[in-house]
Amino acid sequence: MPPIDFILFDLDNTLYPRRSGLFDHVDRRINRYLAEEVGLPPAAVDRVRRHYLETYGTTLSGLIRHHRVDPEHYLAYVHDVPIEELIPPDEELPRLLAALPGEKYIFSNASRDHCLRVLTHLGVADFFVGIYDIIRLRWQPKPLPAVYRQVLTGVGRPAARGLMVDDLPANLEPARALGLRTVLVRDGEGEKRDGCLGGEVVVDTIHRLPEALRRLPSPPRCGPASAGGG
Ligand SMILES: [Mg+2]
Repeated sequence: MPPIDFILFDLDNTLYPRRSGLFDHVDRRINRYLAEEVGLPPAAVDRVRRHYLETYGTTLSGLIRHHRVDPEHYLAYVHDVPIEELIPPDEELPRLLAALPGEKYIFSNASRDHCLRVLTHLGVADFFVGIYDIIRLRWQPKPLPAVYRQVLTGVGRPAARGLMVDDLPANLEPARALGLRTVLVRDGEGEKRDGCLGGEVVVDTIHRLPEALRRLPSPPRCGPASAGGG
């Protein structure tokens, strides 16, 4: 196993399975926010949301820019979902995290409150030494490269000694470009793997992370521009 001093974990759909449906609830809350709080005509919600996502990286960034929404109000509203009902208990997760090397951090586009609520529900909050959430990162979301540099500065350790785990390939590319190793948690979505772009190592559940660590190349095998490796 290559030396790992720290691990950056995505939260949603990474530490718990996508099939929980939690994200569908958040999705509906975002649409409701655009209609009821921002006052967009319901027929325009999808189009505006897609436009903000494509232009600014998140719906929130577009809402801040064009509608002056209070980001903390928005985050509390969209994350007001029944986490405890949706996310199944996971007795294995604490054991798994305890056995992994290095300091563990959360690196999420959600709010700190949402992260803590999920981590507490899963019984793993104490395993994490820090949370890099969208508020701490001043509303700059993954996969903007600047936020990865900010996180690395905060962690204070060389990228080559770190690992990032996420369910979205696009979120892993900037990490790999900076020299981190990466693991993609694909969660049975059947997403096509595309050389190194899909993550150096792909697993279908967080429970296979220990196994993934043993398969990690050392040093990192290829950057975002190469293909066919990993
Ligand atoms: Mg995720």
